[in-house]
Amino acid sequence: MHPNQSKLESRVHRAAEAALSRQQYVSAIDVLCGMGLLASAQVDSWRKGRVDFLERVIQGNLKKISSSIAIFRRWARDKGLKPSETQYMRHSRTGTVVLQFSKSGDPGIEKSYRTHFVSPELSEKKEQRLQEKLNQSPKPVVFQNLREAHCSECGAEIEQGSFLSMELEQPLCLQCARLDDLEFLPSGDAALTRRASKYSGRVAVVVRFSRSRGRYERKGILVETSGLEKAERECLEDADERAVARARGAERRQKQDVELAAQMIKQIAILFPGCPASEVADIAEHTARRESGRVGRTEAGRNLEESALTLAVVAAIRHKHTRYDELLASGVDRVTARQRIAVMVEEILARWRIRDCGKNTH
Ligand SMILES: [Zn+2]
Repeated sequence: MHPNQSKLESRVHRAAEAALSRQQYVSAIDVLCGMGLLASAQVDSWRKGRVDFLERVIQGNLKKISSSIAIFRRWARDKGLKPSETQYMRHSRTGTVVLQFSKSGDPGIEKSYRTHFVSPELSEKKEQRLQEKLNQSPKPVVFQNLREAHCSECGAEIEQGSFLSMELEQPLCLQCARLDDLEFLPSGDAALTRRASKYSGRVAVVVRFSRSRGRYERKGILVETSGLEKAERECLEDADERAVARARGAERRQKQDVELAAQMIKQIAILFPGCPASEVADIAEHTARRESGRVGRTEAGRNLEESALTLAVVAAIRHKHTRYDELLASGVDRVTARQRIAVMVEEILARWRIRDCGKNTH
């Protein structure tokens, strides 16, 4: 075998093994991405219809690509993986469009790209669920616009705060996007949302750009009126049961939080024996709180790792024993404010690490 060929072979095998162990199936796209021949951003562009066929954005010549895919298929066969054809589609106004992989569109080549290989260890039920998920074309996205726009097709004005669809980077009014018969269901009622999307033949996701957070946030969904009505009826029927389940869940979560806080108190007291008991309790209670989004709710925090607990203690010291909040309020940036108080924080931390200094910390 040519040395370059065996080098290519081991690259393909490594990428395929990695994808298989990660997700229990592997596709040609996974292998090409794993080999660094294809970027996931490019795959994304292709799935949205901005790239006409996938090979256009794969690095390397066609010979190398087709050799890689041939090596991958041999590897999959030797491992006894199950071939499974998957649909790659995208939404457009006129319905779903089948995505093209190769320049030629040759059915044999298209099929080899489309075929996933599934681990035989996956149970039949899981495989079926996976297949459903992979075959689902992504739901169309509708944007709540931040400023006035005009439809690129009919020229209609799209008022600020109303909905528009984007196709190939161009705004479309809902009428031109053929989504104007759908009804908006705002986020907030999880059961209603789940059921409405289940009973609606067509569903679009509504997002809005948050300037303060710098990302798109989900605002709700657009669904067929009949689906929404059916979902509303169902939710009305079992509202009592769901209220009971919800209350039970809240109770259970609260109990978990209390237990976590109690464990944190013990652990913080061991790490910082000089910290006054009332402060230990405050820090633990604050850090363990579910909605806090604090370090205590991270995996490291729940495992009571020393680094995570120290971070929580440092945060408490900053707010309670230094001018940190005052500095921030006066317009000093976070990095500078932290630098100015760093020495003081270190001093208190050092004192708290020693027993019997807790009585006069400040
Ligand atoms: Zn229009």
